[in-house]
Amino acid sequence: MKKIAILGSTGSIGTQALEVISKNKDLKVVSLAAGRNIKLLEKQAREFCPETVAVYDAAAAKELRIALKDTNIKVLSGERGVIEAAACGADIVLTAIVGIAGLRPTVAAINAGSDIALANKETMVTAGSIINRLCKEKGVRILPVDSEHSAIFQSLQGAPAGSLKKIILTASGGPFFGKTREELENVTAKQALKHPNWSMGAKITVDSATLMNKGLEVIEAVHLFGVRPSDIEVLVHRQSILHSAVEFTDGAVIGQMGTPDMKIPIQYAFTYPQRGGRIDNLSLADIGTLTFCRPDTEVFRCLPLCVEAIEKGGLYPAAVNGANEMSVSLFLEGKIKFPRIAELNGAAMENAADKKDYSLEDIFEADRAARQYVSDRA
Ligand code: NDP
Repeated sequence: MKKIAILGSTGSIGTQALEVISKNKDLKVVSLAAGRNIKLLEKQAREFCPETVAVYDAAAAKELRIALKDTNIKVLSGERGVIEAAACGADIVLTAIVGIAGLRPTVAAINAGSDIALANKETMVTAGSIINRLCKEKGVRILPVDSEHSAIFQSLQGAPAGSLKKIILTASGGPFFGKTREELENVTAKQALKHPNWSMGAKITVDSATLMNKGLEVIEAVHLFGVRPSDIEVLVHRQSILHSAVEFTDGAVIGQMGTPDMKIPIQYAFTYPQRGGRIDNLSLADIGTLTFCRPDTEVFRCLPLCVEAIEKGGLYPAAVNGANEMSVSLFLEGKIKFPRIAELNGAAMENAADKKDYSLEDIFEADRAARQYVSDRA
């Protein structure tokens, strides 16, 4: 029986992870954590009977403690509570909190010796080098959940060291594929939230529309697979069937295909190296055609911005990520226009401190400064 902790259990990834667990007898939930959605968290707690649940929002935690007083479930509160839930000593901690808020709990889980099923890409984007060092020190594995990184990870199974030549990172292109800069000027949050293939949380859906998500994934791939940014080719693949691929030194390309269903990579992270039960059927005959093309990096500036950030290294990825979290939330609130997201992200990155030797606290400071920069100019 594998003990699983789920951070961000009420979100898109978290709820799908619980669906996977409900169908796998060998997986047991030991702790759950979320932001403030205690209605759903209570339901999950009653169904999966974890030892602890944590709620970031202190007032919501208080309410949940009252609601669950007929059970033996311990209710923790605040960031400290989320960190305690992360450090519960599970075999695998699924990190599915959105944004840099996922970083400290992930560090706590690694320090406790748990393997990480990594959905929270912002962890690797902002602190990839620190996380890699810590995982090595603690003997902890990172099992990617992001569908692209899971596909790369799956494609690399059994590959000899030194045989990887290039990563082919696929992108759906999002809802605004093919649009010109002028056409993007007045697109709304409602339109940005309509992803053609995936059903995801609001922040990552907007990131898919700007191609920031692909940029963050380039940075994540650099850290997860030890490649240079120039070893990664991003290709727009509208059908989201080939989730990514790798090219080996001899020119052979191996990729992973499947329907766009996050339960497949989530389950693989939980059962690795075994394969779990069938999640979905892929009928290539029904799909018929798979298409590939290069992304329009002139219109979708967030992608090259992220490549620039990882090439510069240091705190630049944390700055561009922090700026993006702020600009996306301003866009969702209707306070800035869609093209402003890339402009503000770029300007905030330029403004970041150039520091090669940095700590976790420096990362949080770079994040804070970038958010401030964006909100001052919105
Ligand atoms: P959602 O917005 O759907 O869910 C976010 C989750 O995080 C919720 O459970 C939320 O709780 C919780 N949360 C937010 N802030 C805190 C906090 N401070 N402390 C504890 N919990 C918190 O996001 P997604 O599930 O879409 O994405 C989660 C992560 O996975 C992101 O990093 C995303 O980039 C990544 N990812 C997502 C994919 C997807 O298909 N959705 C695909 C690949 C990666 P509450 O609801 O109570 O506020």
